[in-house]
Amino acid sequence: MRFGFQNLALAALSGASFALAQQAVPATGEPHHQTVYEDSRVRALDVQIQPGELIPSHRHDADYAWVDDAGIHFSRAGATHSERNHEVIVELLQRQTGPRNVCGEVLAGEYLHCHEPGSEWLGANLEIQFETDQTRVGILRIAPDAKLAVPPADVPPLLIPLEGTEAEVVSRMNGAPAGSSSRRIVKAVEVLRAPADHVSEIRNIGKTTARFLVVEFGGASE
Ligand SMILES: [Zn+2]
Repeated sequence: MRFGFQNLALAALSGASFALAQQAVPATGEPHHQTVYEDSRVRALDVQIQPGELIPSHRHDADYAWVDDAGIHFSRAGATHSERNHEVIVELLQRQTGPRNVCGEVLAGEYLHCHEPGSEWLGANLEIQFETDQTRVGILRIAPDAKLAVPPADVPPLLIPLEGTEAEVVSRMNGAPAGSSSRRIVKAVEVLRAPADHVSEIRNIGKTTARFLVVEFGGASE
């Protein structure tokens, strides 16, 4: 009698775990998603998957943009996600309205509304691919040996070096002498965000074009 009851309990238990496996688990706590940056607007996640390893399908509880070899993508919160290695995911923690393509077909089958980035990016090779009323997402390219002064902004943009990028950032307080600059090498997927009271310059120290995912806040510039 007791044996039978235990069997029943076991059967109920495995039934429960089966039901759980059918539901997309939240990405928070999913071990392949590593949070590399977080503030009140965004959470950036780096995804590393070993060869041959499978990552369970899961969900992100905020609207999110992500970048892989094929480009930039956008998904609404709650959509089931299964990803590939080396993806960089930027969860947009505030609800996004009016998503639209800019110079990239991020939303499949929808028109492009290509426009230049804001004038503060003049001379920079920044291609905004996608925007919402709150956020702009694009790819910044810097040629070998070239450098770029990160434009000042009330809410500084996020710059995320993508795989293969070798760059250094030189940063100092606004108005401070150049000699007080700090200099450091940046690694792929290390999120760069200059404080609003700092001036920062990024230099490509590699032999190939450096690429950064850029996330700007404050909505459309035009
Ligand atoms: Zn994911």
